[in-house]
Amino acid sequence: MNFNFTKEEETFIDEIKDFINAEKVKPHADDVFAPNREADAQTKIDSPARREFMKTLSKKGYLGMSWPKKYGGQEKPGIYDYILNEELCRVGAPSPGKSVGSIGQTIIHHGSKKIKDEFLPKILAGEIDFALGYSEPGAGSDLASLKLKAEKKNGGWLINGQKIWTSSAHVADWYWLAARTDPDAPKHQGISVFLVKMDDPGIEVHPIETVGEHATNSVFLTDVYVSDEYIVGEVNKGWIYICEALNYERFTFYTIAPLEQKFKELVDLVNSLSRDGIPLNKIPEIRKKIIYLSTDVEKAKVLQRKVLSVAIQDQVPQTEAAIFKLFSTKLHQRLANVAMDILGREGLFRKEYDKSHANGKWEWSYRSTLVDTIGAGTTEIQKNTIAKKSLKLPL
Ligand SMILES: Cc1cc2nc3c(=O)[nH]c(=O)nc-3n(C[C@H](O)[C@H](O)[C@H](O)COP(=O)(O)OP(=O)(O)OC[C@H]3O[C@@H](n4cnc5c(N)ncnc54)[C@H](O)[C@@H]3O)c2cc1C
Repeated sequence: MNFNFTKEEETFIDEIKDFINAEKVKPHADDVFAPNREADAQTKIDSPARREFMKTLSKKGYLGMSWPKKYGGQEKPGIYDYILNEELCRVGAPSPGKSVGSIGQTIIHHGSKKIKDEFLPKILAGEIDFALGYSEPGAGSDLASLKLKAEKKNGGWLINGQKIWTSSAHVADWYWLAARTDPDAPKHQGISVFLVKMDDPGIEVHPIETVGEHATNSVFLTDVYVSDEYIVGEVNKGWIYICEALNYERFTFYTIAPLEQKFKELVDLVNSLSRDGIPLNKIPEIRKKIIYLSTDVEKAKVLQRKVLSVAIQDQVPQTEAAIFKLFSTKLHQRLANVAMDILGREGLFRKEYDKSHANGKWEWSYRSTLVDTIGAGTTEIQKNTIAKKSLKLPL
């Protein structure tokens, strides 16, 4: 059993670190590299500088490394996408996982020639951003219950209804949208995936303030017309594509770097502060907490490597990913909790206040790590997956 990277992979890690260091001294770098941003906010391509950075990634040949050469890729193993993503997440840069990993790969496997020709070059050039329109008010964990109505009309489809929790809807160019095209079919069989321009006049985007600050949106669609050529793959096969799109993201979705980074900052905090004249790093109760957390960060790393080891064999790491997500999101919460305990009253100030410690980082972290336990499958859904798939328990 070897958990280490190969020599070539280590060389690539160094290359990416050098690239990031060179980018960090450029103007607007503070906007691109924002490790203080939390959770969902960190991945967003929501400023001109972040958009420009995606184009720089493209020029360096870092987008679509694992794509087939036929579509402009390099046919490198998925581990290269993983390494790139980890290093970007470590420094709070936006991630290409959604466009290159998830949507791009699904288009490669199922898109028509028209959709491939239109979208793949833009994805590879880092010129396009998508919002994922899956969840609805009555369809989150049970996504196949989605009801957004798409009716056949004049060589296309008329879409009416509501989506909720669409992150990036306020900044994205295109909507990757799941809608019900056959209301009479069994629920998994009447869904199709559409590509819709976000600036369609029938689309209204309303921000939702979450406990982790504005991260997501409600989207209302009124008589949005989409021609047949913007359906992904076959009509009513959308459920298959949605599941595949989530699976294709397996090299870029489950990151460990933000957790490692946050733990490092917690240790720095303990090494830099004193309480009643005693350095925090000499207080037994605090040392104990930090040491237990350090072992848990190591455990999380091993769990993530298990996800990778399955993904590398081109299999879907369903249970491994559920265990990792459950453990790592709870650990993120515990890290923030310990930091808040250590900082005491000072830790309660939000970043808007001058007196906040480290620009309110830990207070924001305390709130937003809760959000991580909901998106991409809630804690309970991860537990159900482990119970059913791994332990064969009844649900
Ligand atoms: C910040 C944020 C960003 C998001 N971004 C997007 C996005 O870009 N696009 C998108 O489509 N969606 C997005 N989501 C939606 C996310 O995927 C859903 O919130 C999630 O799947 C849960 O669905 P729900 O909110 O409808 O809750 P529900 O499914 O209604 O769940 C409510 C509660 O019941 C529990 N529960 C549900 N079913 C079961 C069960 N079978 N057994 C035990 N407990 C259960 C859940 O764990 C939860 O505690 C985002 C969510 C958040 C918070």
